[in-house]
Amino acid sequence: MNIVLLGAPGAGKGTQAQRLVRDFGLAHISTGDLLRAAVKNGTELGVQAKAYMDAGDLVPDQLVIDLVKERLSEDDAREGFMLDGFPRNTVQAVTLDSELSALGRELDCALLVDVPFDVIIRRLSSRRTCRSCGHIGTASDETCPVCGGEMYQRDDDKPETIKNRLAVYEKSTSPLVEYYRGQGILKIVDGDRDPDEVYVDTKKALGL
Ligand code: AMP
Repeated sequence: MNIVLLGAPGAGKGTQAQRLVRDFGLAHISTGDLLRAAVKNGTELGVQAKAYMDAGDLVPDQLVIDLVKERLSEDDAREGFMLDGFPRNTVQAVTLDSELSALGRELDCALLVDVPFDVIIRRLSSRRTCRSCGHIGTASDETCPVCGGEMYQRDDDKPETIKNRLAVYEKSTSPLVEYYRGQGILKIVDGDRDPDEVYVDTKKALGL
């Protein structure tokens, strides 16, 4: 099964993706995670991407498209994948469609995790991420509840950057909802609930 996860930053895409990986073993391809790893490792891609990420802007399409193409060709992704944070605009969505069709594959579902903007702002401000395992928690987690690692606040989860990320989402990414609706593969879950409840609907929407 090939899935695109849609939703504003902080909607809970990553949390739902982690559960789907745990239960169904789909390859989780998060462009944000891949880019953060590139920045941490000081690769050429990381050096080029860092300033955009720090500002909450989108990294240039070609850099991200190359990254996704490479990742999609890995063995685990051939069995089925979950794209999280990609595509982020129409150029990326059209490119993804043509890359997949060249491989004789297609998307089965675009799942929108729908959360009102005021809730998103509150969530992002209190979001903390584990440095070791990537678990997504809140400001009340002193250490990671999964692995005991150090929890930190992503630079782009700070208030000044959150505003820009949401503006970028509204302008560039939200039109993809209509794009996938037009393809007849859009499913929507209400993400403004407890993650366990959202997960029940996520599985239902995906027919899992
Ligand atoms: P995320 O973890 O998905 O919120 O991504 C963090 C940051 O990485 C974004 O604010 C962008 O700067 C960059 N990024 C992630 N995915 C993409 C993408 N598909 N296109 C461009 N930039 C991206």
